Amino acid sequence: MTIPSVLIIDDEPDNFDVIEAFLSDQGYQLHYAAGGQEAIAALETFAPDLILLDVMMPGMDGMEVCQRIKAIPKWEAVPIIVITALTSKKDLAQCISAGADDFMSKPINRLELNARVRSMLRIRQQYQQIAAFSTQLEAQVQQRTAQLEAMVLQDAMTQLPSHAFLLQKLSETFESGQSSFALVYLDCDQFKLVNGAFGHAVGNQLLIAIAQRLQQHLLPGDILARIGGDEFCFLLHQIKDTPTLERSIQSILQSFNNAFLVENCEIFMSASLGVALVKDEKRQPEELLQDADTAMYQAKLRGKGSYQIFDRQMHLSMLSRLTLENDLQRALTQQEFMLHYQPIIDLQTKTLSGFEALVRWQHPVRGMVSPAEFIPSMETTGLIVPVGMLILKQACQQLQIWRQQGWTELSMSVNLSVRQFSSPTLLSDIDRVLAETGIDPAYLKLEITESAIMDNAEMAIALTQALQSRHIQISIDDFGTGYSSLGYLHRFPVNNLKIDRSFVNQIQLESRDYHVVDTIITLSKQLGLLVIAEGVETAQQLEALKQLGCEFGQGYLFSRPLAANEIERIYFSQREAVLT
Ligand code: C2E
Ligand code: MG
Ligand code: MG
Repeated sequence: MTIPSVLIIDDEPDNFDVIEAFLSDQGYQLHYAAGGQEAIAALETFAPDLILLDVMMPGMDGMEVCQRIKAIPKWEAVPIIVITALTSKKDLAQCISAGADDFMSKPINRLELNARVRSMLRIRQQYQQIAAFSTQLEAQVQQRTAQLEAMVLQDAMTQLPSHAFLLQKLSETFESGQSSFALVYLDCDQFKLVNGAFGHAVGNQLLIAIAQRLQQHLLPGDILARIGGDEFCFLLHQIKDTPTLERSIQSILQSFNNAFLVENCEIFMSASLGVALVKDEKRQPEELLQDADTAMYQAKLRGKGSYQIFDRQMHLSMLSRLTLENDLQRALTQQEFMLHYQPIIDLQTKTLSGFEALVRWQHPVRGMVSPAEFIPSMETTGLIVPVGMLILKQACQQLQIWRQQGWTELSMSVNLSVRQFSSPTLLSDIDRVLAETGIDPAYLKLEITESAIMDNAEMAIALTQALQSRHIQISIDDFGTGYSSLGYLHRFPVNNLKIDRSFVNQIQLESRDYHVVDTIITLSKQLGLLVIAEGVETAQQLEALKQLGCEFGQGYLFSRPLAANEIERIYFSQREAVLT
């Protein structure tokens, strides 16, 4: 309040003169109105901070003026002091119920008038401060709410619409009764490798670059949202028929044909797409997203860079996946998992050097089930962690039994899945198994794939070092099927490299794979790694491998994976495990 404005409403101009005289040295701005109507009409002009109101007036009396002013929202908080000659309790009660804030009886006394005016103006000032503060607070809340809404509806990193925004738009699209549109769910293939190899900052830059490239496929009204991580979703409106849809999908897939340039690195990326098509039906937005996600999952199973359009059959395969997961859980409690052992042969001496333990599921109805069928499912559910430890323990126990029988030079290789490798309890679990079985860790080899390493390179270095400090050996399994770079291997303390059987298969003399295997073996030797060829099936393959200087081999040519008693019967019945 700069200069307080005081409005005096009285039909007697003399009364105003008296008040004016009493308040003259207080620095107020005084205004006069001779009646209620006039006062109400001039409120905007006077903008009073306080009103002194006479009760007895011709026409509209003071009570009514008071009620009317208090009924106007803008002026209701302006204090009103009623000046009256009526002093009975009843009259005063009436003043209060009309909305008056204070009253004074006539004749007016200077000191009293000054004190009451000051007190009311002080209240008025405090009220205004509170009102200003609450307006400011309200503005801040509104601004923050708008920011939060924007955050919920927009992905901060790529600036694309968010998951929540997409769901909102989908439900609006259904509401609008639009009959034909498509939802395309896009997931980058093996994005984790980028994070593992280049770090998260580069990974984020790559996601931004991908988002920018994908936006080029949007037609007016279409939406591209980031659903989370490396997943994006298109809402495509202008889909009239399947050929139009397929053209759109192809062009989205083609955006991955060229490398992305991120921080001076050229990074190639591919993506898998799942499509849910809507034709004249009303669905829940989440359901539609789920369908597109299911289709995307199916596309992934078919390999990188492919797409799949959702159909009802996929629900059934999802269902059978769930059944498999339940079955596996039961198999664990019923102890239906057992191990077979496949010999690994020293190619120069033709002697048995050790075994790879391979899990088998003895299904009560289906018989022996191959790990290729159930390991992926155990990976996704996490069941591989407890089952993997049972496998490790059983393999170590078996090795210990054979060592006690005198086969002291044999090693045991055990597969570790990606999920196990990233389990925080891995080292303590391994230590427990070593302690419980009492084996010499130097005869244990753990097989991991390249992706287990590349998913989180820093962690992998620490983990492989920790395993080596226990004298456990590390083998890279299925080499050539994943990241396939020997360049990074020197960063990890790895001992053995297993060449994937797809190369061994095609290794006939002077073929392309012959040269690939040649290179792998030469470089491995330079890195001090021992090489094991997987899937040796023919004498020709063996010959080529020996020529290339490959040290060890494993495959049907020597033996299929066998139960422990079979191994004992075939190999340990002789005095020496020598192959003929
Ligand atoms: P892997 O670790 O590369 O194991 C070698 C696979 O190649 C085994 O298949 C083996 O039976 C098969 N194999 C061996 N020699 C030949 C051959 O000459 N020709 C052909 N065509 N195949 C041959 P299997 O036992 O079906 O296991 C498949 C994969 O499942 C394994 O590949 C491994 O990745 C995984 N796996 C098996 N057992 C375990 C386990 O105990 N734990 C984990 N985490 N994964 C396992
Ligand atoms: Mg293996
Ligand atoms: Mg392998």
